[in-house]
Amino acid sequence: MYDAIVVGARVAGSPLAMLLARQGYRVLAVDRTNFPSDTISTHYVHQAGLSRLQAWGLLDAVIATGCPPIRHLNFSYTDIALDGFADPIDGIDAVYCPRRTVLDKILVDAAAESGVEVIERFTVTDLIEEDGRVVGIRGTEGDGAELEFRASIVVGADGANSIVAKKVGAEVYRGSPGGCFVYYSYYSGIEWGMHHRTGFGRQQFASWPTNDGLSLVAVMRPRDQFRDFRANPDAGVQEIVDAIDPKYGEDLRDNATREEQFRPMLYPDNYYRQSFGPGWALVGDAGYHKDPFTGWGITDAFKYAELLSQRIAEGLSGDRPMEEALADYQQSRDEQSNGTYELTTSISELTLTPYYDSVFRAASKSPRYTKRFFGLIAGGIPGEDFFAPENLAELYAEVDLPESDRHLTSA
Ligand SMILES: Cc1cc2nc3c(=O)[nH]c(=O)nc-3n(C[C@H](O)[C@H](O)[C@H](O)COP(=O)(O)OP(=O)(O)OC[C@H]3O[C@@H](n4cnc5c(N)ncnc54)[C@H](O)[C@@H]3O)c2cc1C
Repeated sequence: MYDAIVVGARVAGSPLAMLLARQGYRVLAVDRTNFPSDTISTHYVHQAGLSRLQAWGLLDAVIATGCPPIRHLNFSYTDIALDGFADPIDGIDAVYCPRRTVLDKILVDAAAESGVEVIERFTVTDLIEEDGRVVGIRGTEGDGAELEFRASIVVGADGANSIVAKKVGAEVYRGSPGGCFVYYSYYSGIEWGMHHRTGFGRQQFASWPTNDGLSLVAVMRPRDQFRDFRANPDAGVQEIVDAIDPKYGEDLRDNATREEQFRPMLYPDNYYRQSFGPGWALVGDAGYHKDPFTGWGITDAFKYAELLSQRIAEGLSGDRPMEEALADYQQSRDEQSNGTYELTTSISELTLTPYYDSVFRAASKSPRYTKRFFGLIAGGIPGEDFFAPENLAELYAEVDLPESDRHLTSA
């Protein structure tokens, strides 16, 4: 009998399991895959996410993999250009974008070193329920016979298609359809730094350096263009980079070599799912997901895995009824993530509403507000503060934006 079973051992599951084990709880983490292994993700980790790795004593291990630091960010939305970097967060003055093969292995090893029993290649096929409560999991390790494990709580950290969410019937209570598709791969021969560039048609390219001297290049367009794009993705990537920034288009054409296969994906929908019930909880993408446009999935997985570990510990120790602690987790997660969710779902359609156009245009003209923009992106400045109408009014006055363009609210 375990105190907790965590299904899924990537960026949400391993930290949750690790943090519970470090508090002395008996934890089992299972994953149907083995590590190191890749998963679809462009793996940009914000300073707020890196600060969690630092708090857990794992940031140095990530840096030691040779993943290069990024200290300058280039954002653009058509003719609006914002470049710079946020103030340090908890002393972290760089961003790192480690491959998931590297990051997830560090996390799962840290969980095991903290005392978590980890079983790789274990596929959960069902939950064990008694008297209306989840009390364990059923599944198979590789091709082996079916096994059962029991625990006080079972947590689904098993991604967007969570089997735990399916088996308990967790309902989506807020959501909107995914807007785009992505194609990305890894290239040698280019050194562009970090770019997040949108416009000149509904399209985007993003690029950042990662492990092994490679640069990730990703492109996005609306979902209804996916079929056409598949016919020749190399030409499609070239076309998008050429349209957004011909200088980088030329470099891509002349100097870049694509080193790996493309990873194509239609983005899943944006959603919040009911994330707790009798004997169960959800964390990471299993409970809450938004378009990867703002690159907040990993950072949020870290933040809310930590939050959930604190609430579960309160329940397990008897300090508080478990269901009350889990309800508090969901409420806090929803409140804290609301700003990121709103911003992401608003701008991931690859066009700017008049409101966001005026905010970003004005911010690009003010060095002070450009810095705050990067603070917002990095997780250092709350959205309520950045977008507060009184702050925007001050910004518009500072940069002398025409009265007709001064949108103070998104409504
Ligand atoms: C195209 C794309 C680009 C992205 N780019 C970024 C980015 O740049 N930055 C960022 O922060 N976020 C990004 N994200 C989002 C980020 O990747 C996710 O938010 C994050 O991976 C969620 O982590 P997780 O641990 O919740 O789930 P996952 O990473 O999905 O891991 C779930 C784990 O559960 C296991 N599992 C599933 N079912 C079972 C089962 N039945 N039994 C046992 N194990 C099971 C799986 O094997 C898997 O290992 C991107 C997402 C996409 C799709």
